[in-house]
Amino acid sequence: MRSLATGFKKEGKTVGLVPTMGYFHEGHLSLMRRARQQNDIVVVSIYVNPLQFGPKEDYKEYPRDLDRDKALAEGVGVDVIFAPSDEEMYFKDHSVFVDEVSMTDVLCGKSRPGHFRGVLTVVAKLFNIVLPDRAYFGMKDYQQLKIIERMVRDLNFPVEIVPCPIVREEDGLAMSSRNIYLAPEERKSALSLSRSLKMAKELIEKEGIDADKIKKMIVEEIKKYPYTKIDYVEIVDADSLKPLTKESKKALIALAVFVGKARLIDNTVVDIK
Ligand code: AMP
Repeated sequence: MRSLATGFKKEGKTVGLVPTMGYFHEGHLSLMRRARQQNDIVVVSIYVNPLQFGPKEDYKEYPRDLDRDKALAEGVGVDVIFAPSDEEMYFKDHSVFVDEVSMTDVLCGKSRPGHFRGVLTVVAKLFNIVLPDRAYFGMKDYQQLKIIERMVRDLNFPVEIVPCPIVREEDGLAMSSRNIYLAPEERKSALSLSRSLKMAKELIEKEGIDADKIKKMIVEEIKKYPYTKIDYVEIVDADSLKPLTKESKKALIALAVFVGKARLIDNTVVDIK
């Protein structure tokens, strides 16, 4: 991959990277299409990174289908798929990690200790292997996007981060490889995530922001549905991921909910004046 990448550089070609864990859906494909529009070469990495899964999480069950992914990526004009093995990615005595210390103790970082350390470490490695000019990340994983932007800023990676909007099913469910875990009845309950976020957004636009009231409304709405177990519902400043202040311009409403065994996340960003 590195020698391909240096070849592209020598030829003066721009490279767009879409890092993924595979099992593609329209969300992934939207990132690839965006990368296709903006770069000479599009590289998609497919790697289920063991470092970002906790010991009780779904690393083993995480869905994988490389042949299907290859066909889908080819269909949107991807040039290179980089799908390394664990042995290629990590030395047995790997001992250097990337940590962010200001935005990782909230939201998913709080529920999944070590998760963002795993994400940042693998993304830093991918940037050094693929040498992209641009890298594409979905706003579905909003906290991940913010923390990666911070890494790029603080460690001077010569990469432009391109945020991409959340892609949803027609009924509002945010697309996720983990939606495959949902039984039909659970999938109905899972709609409460996007629905409650939509209700929250409308309420804020009408009445202004009262974080406690909105959080309570979302929790009540989600709890109405069977198979749901709330991990967190939070409203924070969308730039700092810290509590809202009078200076806050945008609020992030983010939630994580177990629906059956699937841990689903969703969010929305609201302008506050
Ligand atoms: P994953 O394979 O789940 O690690 O996701 C790879 C990339 O796709 C990440 O940047 C995600 O934020 C992005 N992504 C996943 N689901 C969606 C979605 N529904 N809409 C937009 N981007 C997404």
